[in-house]
Amino acid sequence: MKIGVINAGSSSLKFRLIETGTKKILISQIVENIGEHGSEIKDHHEALERMGIDFSKIDAIGHRVVHGGEEFSNAVLIDERVKDAIEKLSILAPLHNKANLEGIRVAQAKAPNIPHIAVFDTAFHATMPKAASLYALPYEMYEKHNIRRYGFHGTSHSYVMKEAACTLLKDVNSVNLITLHLGNGASACAIQNGQSIDTSMGFTPLEGLIMGSRSGDIDPSVVFYMHNELGMSLESIETMLNKESGLMGICNENDVRKVLKSQDEHAKLALEMMIRRIQKYIGAYLAILGSVDAIVFTGGIGENSSYIRESVMSSELLKNIKFLSIETNEELEIANEAVEVIKSKGI
Ligand code: ADP
Repeated sequence: MKIGVINAGSSSLKFRLIETGTKKILISQIVENIGEHGSEIKDHHEALERMGIDFSKIDAIGHRVVHGGEEFSNAVLIDERVKDAIEKLSILAPLHNKANLEGIRVAQAKAPNIPHIAVFDTAFHATMPKAASLYALPYEMYEKHNIRRYGFHGTSHSYVMKEAACTLLKDVNSVNLITLHLGNGASACAIQNGQSIDTSMGFTPLEGLIMGSRSGDIDPSVVFYMHNELGMSLESIETMLNKESGLMGICNENDVRKVLKSQDEHAKLALEMMIRRIQKYIGAYLAILGSVDAIVFTGGIGENSSYIRESVMSSELLKNIKFLSIETNEELEIANEAVEVIKSKGI
C-alpha cells in the first residue's frame, strides 16, 4: 500500500510517501520555519500546499502524534472523538500535540476521502506496569491530574525491537531486550516478551538519560534552589533544563560528532557522564529483566558511533552481552501501523 506519513512539528512539516510492501520511499519532503519571523510560509496548510502532493494516489495517511496519554495504547483511525482526545491531551504536551493536530486537520482537508490514522509516541509504553509508570507522589496526583510516567520514542523502540527479533531469529512475543534510542533526545526501554515494561523518559521527555541539551534525571530540589535562592524564574529554569543542559550544558556543544572530536576536558567529561548514565539504566533494567537476548543501539548516536557503543558495553557486567546496532525507521513503523489499523477495520 502507498501510505503517506506526516510529522507536523511546531515549525516544521515532514511528509513521506512509503510503499509498505517494498519499504520504498517514494516521496520525502520537509518544510521548515513555518510561522517563524520572516518566513514565507505562515501555517501548516501553506506548507502542505507547497509540497504539491497528489493525494489521489495515496491509500491512507499515518500521523505521528506525540502524546496519547492513557487513552491510546495503539494506533487508531482518526475520527472527531480521537481529535477531541488529542486536543485534550495537549495539556500534557502543549507544543507537540497542537502541531500534530494541525497536521491532521490540514491533511484531512486536502484528502478527506482516505483513512487517517494516529500513531502515538507514547503507545508502546502503555504496557508498563504501574510499579514502573507511577511516581511516588500522593496517589491523587496520578488519579486526578494524570501525573505519571508515559515514556516517548515508542515507535522507534517498537521498530528496532521487531528488527532485532528478526535478526536474533526470535519470535517478537518472546524477545527480551534493552533498546537505547540515542539521538538528540535519548531514551532507554526495558522490553520483556515483546512489551515495554519500563522506559527512561517520564511525564515529559526530560527525564532519564543525558541528552544533547536536556539534563535527564536530576534531583527536583535543584529546581526549588534555583528558584528560591538564585531568583531564577520557573520559565528560565524550564528552558535551561530542556535547551541549555545535557552535553550542551557541560561542554557547550550538543552535536556528538563534534564532542567526540574535541580535545576539551569538558567534552570528555560530557561523554563520560552520558555513557555512565546509559550504563546505570542498563544495569537497572538488567536487574529487573534478569537477562536479555541483546542490547540494541539506535538513533543518530547509537547507529553511527562505535565508540559510544563500545564504551557503554565495556563494563565488566556488560562485556559478554550481545549488542546490536539497528537503524531506526519511525516513518516506516508509522506506515506499517497505519496498514494494520486499516486491515483490522476492514477498510
Ligand atoms: P534526532 O533525535 O533529532 O532525530 P538523530 O537521531 O539524527 O537526532 O541523532 C542526532 C545525533 O546523532 C547528534 O548528536 C549527532 O551528532 C549524532 N551523530 C550522527 N552521526 C554520528 C556519527 N557518525 N558519530 C557520532 N554521532 C553521530
